[in-house]
Amino acid sequence: APHLDAPADPETLSALARQASALVDAQVAFLGPDGAVLGASDVEVATVGSRYRPEVQQALTAGVGHSIRANPATGAPTLYVAVPVQVDEQVRGFVDVAASLASIDVDTARLRRLLFGMALLTLLATGLLAALIAEGSLRPLRQMRQVMQRMAQGDLDARLLPTASDEVGDLLRAFNRLADRLRDELGSLHAERNRLVVVLEHLADGVLITDAVGRVQWINPAAARLLETTEAAALGRSFAQVVRHHRLIELWKLSRQRNDIQADTLEFERRQRFIQATITPLHEDQFHGYLVLLHDLTQMRRLETVRRDFVSNISHELRTPLASLKALVDTLRDGALEDPPAARRFLDRIETEVDAMTQMVQELLELSRIESGQVPLRLHPTPVAEVVSPPVERLRPQAERAGLRLRVDLPPGLPAVLADAERVQQVVTNLVHNAIKFTSQGGEVVVAARLAGDEVVISVRDTGIGIPAQDLSRIFERFYKADRARSSGGTGLGLAIAKHVVQAHGGRIWAESVEGQGSTFYFSLPVSSP
Ligand code: ADP
Repeated sequence: APHLDAPADPETLSALARQASALVDAQVAFLGPDGAVLGASDVEVATVGSRYRPEVQQALTAGVGHSIRANPATGAPTLYVAVPVQVDEQVRGFVDVAASLASIDVDTARLRRLLFGMALLTLLATGLLAALIAEGSLRPLRQMRQVMQRMAQGDLDARLLPTASDEVGDLLRAFNRLADRLRDELGSLHAERNRLVVVLEHLADGVLITDAVGRVQWINPAAARLLETTEAAALGRSFAQVVRHHRLIELWKLSRQRNDIQADTLEFERRQRFIQATITPLHEDQFHGYLVLLHDLTQMRRLETVRRDFVSNISHELRTPLASLKALVDTLRDGALEDPPAARRFLDRIETEVDAMTQMVQELLELSRIESGQVPLRLHPTPVAEVVSPPVERLRPQAERAGLRLRVDLPPGLPAVLADAERVQQVVTNLVHNAIKFTSQGGEVVVAARLAGDEVVISVRDTGIGIPAQDLSRIFERFYKADRARSSGGTGLGLAIAKHVVQAHGGRIWAESVEGQGSTFYFSLPVSSP
């Protein structure tokens, strides 16, 4: 354009046209706004030009014009292309390019190469540009990735530092808010989980969870104890290996097969336990498995047994005196009434039976009151002689009638004991009474006491029939009587009551015996500290 603008210097323009011609490999002419040739690469172009060249006319109206006609100089078909040159929206002239069509054909290949090269260049430039732009916007994304990785590794406090206030900054802030919520939610989930774990750890019932194929995923200490295993040994192992109980494994299989809760009471012979096992299929979104609950019924069973035994014992104990009462009454009705001396004898026996039953009922009541803690002890510092002597003196006539020597042997200087005197006298009465009852004529009963640490141990020794070794551990049970004492007419409750009274004082009671030589009963009472 500047050349067109400048005063036409045909030589300069022609030189320029020749340069351009070499560049595009075609003939080039610069035309003035009126179509007059100002400079041309070739004389032919210059001479054949006319202001009415069709391509120039077309260029004026359409922006680019072209026409194909014979080159007036060579006669070869030639393509003419004209482009207007505009400065400030004013047409200042035209560039006219003439290319022989023969050479254009050949040049298509070159053109294609050129085009391909151009495309490649464009692509490269675009890529480079994109990379440069991306570098700027990638930095926050890269930071985000690092922070996410830290969070994934457990650092929930990792946060981004939003610098810009643009959309990327907003994104980072939103990410941080998300992280805050995630941390809070995870925190409360954690707290909840911990609470649950604490509850399960301290639960008396055994809890075990297996996955769908029966691998142990979780086990609480109670379950580990019951199954005689440890958490470390059980986790990840198969249910069958961990429980080693045929029926429990069967129950688990049944639950899986029927996809339903299964419950059963099982006996664990190894530990002599009765276990109520319940197996529940779990179907949570993420987890499929089985919840195994093991509830120990042993204690309950034991209590049930005790209660059953108790009832049957009482019935048994009452049946004998009731039967003899019935017999005595029948005898009286059948004629003994007409015989006054015999009738009186029968009445005496009836009275004895009734007394025995009354005593038994009283002792039972007493026992149940002591056992249920309804008898509060009135503990006072009490001299040992005070709990020993009164019962001994009360029973002395009975011992004399049985032909026995009865002695009290207390060392001097024994400290006082902390005791409810009346209750402990009852214990001594019981022990001395038994000693008299189970010792034959000519024998001896000695009540003694000694200091042992911070306890006083009181003993009642006899030279009687003794207690078989197999009975020794059981005589303190309710209703328990050794075989040889069956006919002695006791209730079997006396020692049970004694045991409860002594234990309520914080003491112990026990017995030693050699069958045929005699027995010694001991009980301890705490020394009352001054
Ligand atoms: P009982 O009313 O039958 O005496 P106890 O509870 O006092 O009830 O005693 C339980 C059993 O312990 C007695 O039946 C007897 O077999 C045995 N026994 C207790 N004291 C003696 C003793 N001094 N010598 C031998 N056996 C005894």
